[in-house]
Amino acid sequence: MTPLPPSGMTPLPPGATIGIVGGGQLGRMSALAAARLGYRCHILTPEADCPAALVSAAITLGDYEDRAALEAFAAAVDVITFEFENVSAAGLDLLASRKPVRPGAEILRVSQDRAAEKSFLNGIGIATAPWRAVNSLAELQQAADELGLPAILKTTRLGYDGKGQAALRSPGDLAPAFKRLAPKPLVLEGFVDFACEISVIVARGADGGIASFDPVENLHRDHILDLTLAPARIPTQTAAAATQIARHIAEGLGLVGLLAVEMFVTADNRVVVNEIAPRPHNSGHWTIDACGASQFELHIRAVAGLPLLPATRHSDAVMKNLVGPDEIALWPQILATPGLIPHHYGKTEARPGRKLGHVTRLFPRDALPGPFGIRDALGPLASE
Ligand code: AMP
Repeated sequence: MTPLPPSGMTPLPPGATIGIVGGGQLGRMSALAAARLGYRCHILTPEADCPAALVSAAITLGDYEDRAALEAFAAAVDVITFEFENVSAAGLDLLASRKPVRPGAEILRVSQDRAAEKSFLNGIGIATAPWRAVNSLAELQQAADELGLPAILKTTRLGYDGKGQAALRSPGDLAPAFKRLAPKPLVLEGFVDFACEISVIVARGADGGIASFDPVENLHRDHILDLTLAPARIPTQTAAAATQIARHIAEGLGLVGLLAVEMFVTADNRVVVNEIAPRPHNSGHWTIDACGASQFELHIRAVAGLPLLPATRHSDAVMKNLVGPDEIALWPQILATPGLIPHHYGKTEARPGRKLGHVTRLFPRDALPGPFGIRDALGPLASE
């Protein structure tokens, strides 16, 4: 194993404080990784007992747009990173004027806006679904004529887990979908008839050194990630192409931090990028248990200017999200099942559709079972 070169910036010493914008489970698992490296984490969150705050040294309680809260947060930390990326341009400017922000504010601006994101990706030669910006019903009609139906209409901002989008199957779907989706503007995407959905997570240090995890396969239920299979069941050449795409995007962005790239693989093994997120990602949770250094550790290492480590997978893995009250109700059985590695996010309210935890099951490398075997391997979650 060849160590990657050290980063170009002075590493943050143990005892320094990393500021994390956002208090969800991604912040929680980043804070746990940071603690192991000797750092204190300080969370900016509107919710005092959020998952990240429960495991961190300090919080600033306030809204992401509250100038006083942003000021107090920036004053209390040595470097700033994100687990929640929808901070306004003014908020980002304020933070960036006070402390180093990694990844940079410009990268968040690109990833916050689907149109800016696709323009950027296409501009560096990366294939996406064909798409058109849609500002009015007339533009939607023209875009649908050009791209054909079916197509997917999406908000450019604030969409997640299938929220903020609509499938258009017939001309009669256009007007109601345009009316319903907010905030405007929108984008229309041609429908990609994919064979599977994959993602690649890549870390990049200040010196340009890169480490990327193996491509994984993502299976959704009700538009929410249900299972991640590591590695993805795709040909070696397709995996190499997907990895190359993720690295190219990280370099194109000048990223310092972590980036998740979600992609579609078509039946003829073409790789098409769906979206990017410059932060830890749900499809990388398996790395905590199946890799020497997880996505969260590489995130913190990149942000703190520490040397990265190779993102090597020592085991194959299946990660299952625990979503909503029915799945988290199985917690006692999960805890009693050997082989299931439990992760609870400490959320007090178990609303339907809410991600409350996950479990990981490891397998020897290259021993990932087929789809039915995967369900069986999840013990009490097999029928879920
Ligand atoms: P997104 O919010 O962009 O991640 O989309 C959520 C899910 O909708 C994806 O994981 C896909 O399953 C599906 N989807 C999104 N865009 C497209 C597309 N252009 N073609 C086909 N399916 C799509």
